[in-house]
Amino acid sequence: MLPWATGQRRLTSQPIAARLASKCNGEMISLGMGCIPRRAQRIPTIVMTLMEPAPPVADDQALHILRSVFGYPHFRAPQDEVIRTLVSGGDALVLMPTGGGKSLCFQIPSMVRAGTGLVVSPLIALMQDQVAALKQAGVRAAYLNSTLGAESARAIEQQLLRGELDLLYVAPERLMLERTLALLARSNIALFAIDEAHCVSQWGHDFRPEYMQLSVLHERFPAIPRIALTATADAPTRREIITRLGLENARVFISGFDRPNIRYRISQTTAGGGSAREQLLRFLRAEHAGDAGIVYCLSRKRVDEIAQWLKDQGLTALPYHAGLSAEVRSHNQRRFLNEEGVVMVATIAFGMGIDKSNVRFVAHLNLPKSIEAYYQETGRAGRDGLAADAWMIYGLQDVITLRQMLETSQSDDAHKRVERHKLDAMLGLCELTTCRRQALLAYFDDAQPNPCGNCDTCLHPPETWDASVPAQKALSCVHRTGQRFGVNYLLDVLMGKADERIQRFGHDQLTTFGIGKEHSANEWRGIFRQLIARGLLAVDLEGHGALRLTDACRPVLRGEQRLWLRRDQAPAPAKAEGKKKVKGAVRAAAFKGDADEHLWEALRARRRELALEQGVPPYVVFHDATLTQMIERRPRTLSEFALISGVGERKLAAYGEDFLAIIQAHGKANDAPITDTATDTLQLFHLGLDIPAIAARRGLTPGTIYNHLTQAISRGDITLRQVVSLEEDELNRIRTALQAHGGPALKPVFEALDGRYSYEVIRCVQAQRVDA
Ligand code: ADP
Ligand code: ZN
Repeated sequence: MLPWATGQRRLTSQPIAARLASKCNGEMISLGMGCIPRRAQRIPTIVMTLMEPAPPVADDQALHILRSVFGYPHFRAPQDEVIRTLVSGGDALVLMPTGGGKSLCFQIPSMVRAGTGLVVSPLIALMQDQVAALKQAGVRAAYLNSTLGAESARAIEQQLLRGELDLLYVAPERLMLERTLALLARSNIALFAIDEAHCVSQWGHDFRPEYMQLSVLHERFPAIPRIALTATADAPTRREIITRLGLENARVFISGFDRPNIRYRISQTTAGGGSAREQLLRFLRAEHAGDAGIVYCLSRKRVDEIAQWLKDQGLTALPYHAGLSAEVRSHNQRRFLNEEGVVMVATIAFGMGIDKSNVRFVAHLNLPKSIEAYYQETGRAGRDGLAADAWMIYGLQDVITLRQMLETSQSDDAHKRVERHKLDAMLGLCELTTCRRQALLAYFDDAQPNPCGNCDTCLHPPETWDASVPAQKALSCVHRTGQRFGVNYLLDVLMGKADERIQRFGHDQLTTFGIGKEHSANEWRGIFRQLIARGLLAVDLEGHGALRLTDACRPVLRGEQRLWLRRDQAPAPAKAEGKKKVKGAVRAAAFKGDADEHLWEALRARRRELALEQGVPPYVVFHDATLTQMIERRPRTLSEFALISGVGERKLAAYGEDFLAIIQAHGKANDAPITDTATDTLQLFHLGLDIPAIAARRGLTPGTIYNHLTQAISRGDITLRQVVSLEEDELNRIRTALQAHGGPALKPVFEALDGRYSYEVIRCVQAQRVDA
């Protein structure tokens, strides 16, 4: 029996999972069940008869763990359904975006089910942090991998055998050892969780051969439920995971892929904003001073160059790529995780499994090869749900390079076709003049009816212009020069630059010579970029960057089809930096004044100290989102502190007093927080207090509390079912009575129902929105 389950270490005496029974003679009866012990719940008979239906025990345990251990008031969809599936012994495949909350989907069932949850995780270096985070929350977690000495490994194996672990993280290669499999056979295993399940896919860039063998788990342990998780969304990968892991019978959970807190921005290097790296620096200085983030580059050389350059500009920037020694890589990764405000400049070798929650931006200095890659990489920003940026800059050369790489690659034709399609989609996203998020999500079959309002094209709609004539000029120039030259040469011809080479080829005699002087070279680059991106021009197969016409360009060339292009915008001028202190993204968005700012620094400083003492990353102590909420709410007591999202019982006990003291010390500087009384009620309700308990705690009448909840139902903040536990047919009876007798007064309804349901219940049903 675990500490949080027995209630021994509970600091707050809040009853959990209280539901309201309301079937009575006009008089309300509500029942708090108190703390529900794990695996041995006893519900008084009276409750059983009055509460219809009794909530399944496992659901309550799961919710109880969510609140008491992790400090979160409610599940995000579909976490609860996934957990239910596993707890009842079923398999699941979970596709959720990064930051969606996949971990709880296997962590909580591992705690609810008897035995230890075994987590297969591909990255040894990161297991340590995941385990540290669980331990911080008071969960009995450990890992087995090659970094452990024989002695420590043996100790952990013993713990496993004695059933003293809730979760055990194992690297796939270790798991596949006969020795490990034999150990598992002697242990009580609650479930197998296969994290980063897309590593089984041979087509993806994260392919891990050991993952192919994981089907052994199913063969050796057919009765143990399995869950595979990934943030990679496309259908082929999904199918591969199912076949390779033998998950044909698994329930598949695909949640919406939207990451609303990420702002997508894509701009062009041609737009007169200086070089890509200068634009990057401006972006970092203006919007992300002191923030942690990742800058992706295509090559190792470029990574080194950009990291050094940013360092020279005074930023804390570190390189990461496969060409660095393992020590350097792991050192840099540690610093990125453990320190605040480190910018990691990296190739795509970096990022998988990084669960640093406060990555505030992901910048791309090169185009990713596909939308999947772009989405996965940008998804590493803003896991904590706070504002974050996905920022990308690209230009003509990127388009040429990627097209060239594709054409000259050794893949067979079928493969090339797929890759070409993916690149086209990526380029299409870049050149888009409508909402980026809508396009991204549509790519993953997650159609959104409305533009998002949080991407560059929504915020600053780009202009389009009729480029039919210049496009004809450009295409015709390609044609007349024999489809043998690259963009720079073509530009010179269009601009009428009669240099030696042009003269030698006699191209100064062409009708297209000098016909493009009305546009600048940069504008021409933008036109060529878009012609290539849209497939009206192709890059040669030999890899010299020569352009040739495609069939798709004919109608435009012949003037039968008009062509509208995006007008490249100069990037918005960097915000005045002057003397004004520049803030990182979170601070800029959330804080109202200097007092908030000071408190933020003080809380972060204390978090850093605590993290250092324990050798864990700061976000493992508390997420930024948790600190931000402390600032917004300014809790004054331990029980108020317990209401902050992300504060579970262990953290409350370990850090509560400490952080309260800091908040108190800063309390004078700001006015008392604005407390919205209905919001306070809702917080307590989410914590599982029943209505009399909330009323007692707040010194208000149950009627008032009911009013708050009714308002919350009508706003859609909570559902009717969370407040009233009645069968559907009874709810329908009330709805019918409301329809027949409802008016300004509820008395006729109450009477029509023979006084069997309280006014409060009737009001709740009335408040339920039709669409809920
Ligand atoms: P993923 O593995 O899908 O990328 P995580 O499991 O790391 O995501 O969760 C992302 C963040 O969301 C973490 O900070 C986690 O604590 C938080 N989180 C997960 N589930 C909930 C929840 N139900 N309520 C509040 N926060 C949650
Ligand atoms: Zn948008």
